[in-house]
Amino acid sequence: MNVKLTKEQITAIAEAGIKVSQKRAENLLSTDAGLWAFSPEDLTLILRIANATYRAGVPVMSDAKYDTLYVRELEEQDPQSEFLASVEPEPVMESKTVALPVKMLSTEKAYTFEEIERWVSRLIKSANDINLDLSELNIRVTPKLDGYAAYDDGETLYTRGDGSRGQNITRAFDRGLKVAKGGQRGSGAGEIVIRKSYFEDKLSSYFENARNIQASIIAEKKIDERIQQAIDDEACVFYPFKLLDAWVGGCKEFLENFESILEDMWKSVDYEIDGVIAEATNSSLKSYMGSTRKNHRWQIAYKVNAEIAKVIVQEVIPQTSRTGKLTPVALLEPTKLSGATISRATVHNYGMVKAKGVGKGALVELVRSGLVIPKIESVINSVDPDIPVECPSCHSYVVWDGDNLFCPNTTDCPAQAENTMIHFFKTLRNVDGFGPRVVEKIYQAGFKSIHDIYEMNIEKFVEIGFGEKTSENLVTQLLASRSLEIEDWRFLAAFGVPRLGEGNCEKLLAHHDLNEIFKITIDEMIAIDGFAEISASTIHEGLKSIEKEFQLIYKLGFNIKESKRSELVSEQFLSGELIVFTGSMEHGARPDMEAEAKSLGAKIGKSVTGKTTLLVTGKSVGEKKIADATNKGVRVISENEYLGMIKKS
Ligand SMILES: [Zn+2]
Repeated sequence: MNVKLTKEQITAIAEAGIKVSQKRAENLLSTDAGLWAFSPEDLTLILRIANATYRAGVPVMSDAKYDTLYVRELEEQDPQSEFLASVEPEPVMESKTVALPVKMLSTEKAYTFEEIERWVSRLIKSANDINLDLSELNIRVTPKLDGYAAYDDGETLYTRGDGSRGQNITRAFDRGLKVAKGGQRGSGAGEIVIRKSYFEDKLSSYFENARNIQASIIAEKKIDERIQQAIDDEACVFYPFKLLDAWVGGCKEFLENFESILEDMWKSVDYEIDGVIAEATNSSLKSYMGSTRKNHRWQIAYKVNAEIAKVIVQEVIPQTSRTGKLTPVALLEPTKLSGATISRATVHNYGMVKAKGVGKGALVELVRSGLVIPKIESVINSVDPDIPVECPSCHSYVVWDGDNLFCPNTTDCPAQAENTMIHFFKTLRNVDGFGPRVVEKIYQAGFKSIHDIYEMNIEKFVEIGFGEKTSENLVTQLLASRSLEIEDWRFLAAFGVPRLGEGNCEKLLAHHDLNEIFKITIDEMIAIDGFAEISASTIHEGLKSIEKEFQLIYKLGFNIKESKRSELVSEQFLSGELIVFTGSMEHGARPDMEAEAKSLGAKIGKSVTGKTTLLVTGKSVGEKKIADATNKGVRVISENEYLGMIKKS
């Protein structure tokens, strides 16, 4: 493989103070033999180059390759390496560094379950050392966000730098960057991240990866207007770690359910993640275990093993999405990767197919990490690719818009219509059975809208070729989707209006009734926090285009749960209560639940006293604790009872 460095990459390497000629750097990066062929010095040099270019938003290699190939090789060859001992240094940009308010350590990494088991045994051993009851030893697991690490002390936002000195990047907040989940400034360490779905939808045609966007948010130079829009849309946010949804439980539970915890974490956020972070929660254990120069001993990151394979492309076929965009799908020689056989992968867009020469016979490098769909990472041997001239579904001539090909036939393209229907049922989340094959069959039989499908009865389904049992089941599902309760924002999001995903629907419906949604003017929309002018007019236009279909479906009668209007929410429902939470909670991390209770007016206690009014018990709470509380006249309720109670507020 022949690597040619770009001008930006060369600048990034020079600015990081790495002394290497362009030719030597290119030679090192081009070497395709086993990594054992490199000396530790060469490996270190490659890693420093990778680091510098990564921080500048022009990476020379994927994260997966960096972590799982090069870092691991260096760890094996030279475990005492000074490079490995230092927190990955960032190149100094233009501004000078300032001392961080707290030291930001990096996290020890594990790549196998055995390493995790060893870490847990260390926790248990330390707990025994300090006579800590194992029921007090809980592990908190959060997704490991793959963004740009920063620290917010409420006044200044800092880069992590070398762990003790970073740079002042408060300008990111000056540019309108929000804290995730409506959180406050000053929440400590976190990551600047961008919503994955938003990146795919709106930015992937213009930026190769999220890294470039994060770099631009904090850079001194003028920000790209699309990135500014992403900030305004709250697609880019600063996500403090303490606001992340967490799994909390005991050691045994943690090890036994490791795989499923991992899977849940992966689904829990719409941001790039590259693993999970596990940490002990008990503060006396934490201070006993302490930290090394580099890591906290009570914390570990499990990075999902990425595997890389070289594969020949058999064919690239276009697929028309619900918005008309053509997605290039590469059919591959079946290849084993991370335990699964991979035979297809999507390519970014047709711009990339064209520019990189991805077509029949091309040799590509494929990366799959964990549960993530494999990506074509780079093209080793390119070919002259086939670029489609017509939509594979309706045969309209396709048109370029930026790096994307579009089918312009918005009214009569089967693929667009079918994918719109599939999106509807998928977003409702309470209907099964309306996947691609079923929907295609229904569409081809002449039922071309969601409303048409809802009008079908068992006889109709049988008539167009479904079996008796299936038909019955489909009708039952349709009825259920109307009788089961559904949030108004989810219902609206199901219509797939551009820029009106679940988050924006929630915001919109916190201020307006679902019935009035078509009467909202662009100005009224802009008045809501989080809607910029461009989004507002796109949404306005999109709503117009679905109004007729919406009304037809809405009139069928759904069991819609109205969002709480925001002006009504300020009730101090729990005022007068002194609550103690104990045991491991399933709903969220205990500190988050305590914060929530506080926001509802409650006071929080750490242990049960005569003044406590309510003891909320999570999992594995001893009987004695409960009996003691009851004796003191404290009301004891389970986590679920508590949740039921605050939901009514
Ligand atoms: Zn089409």
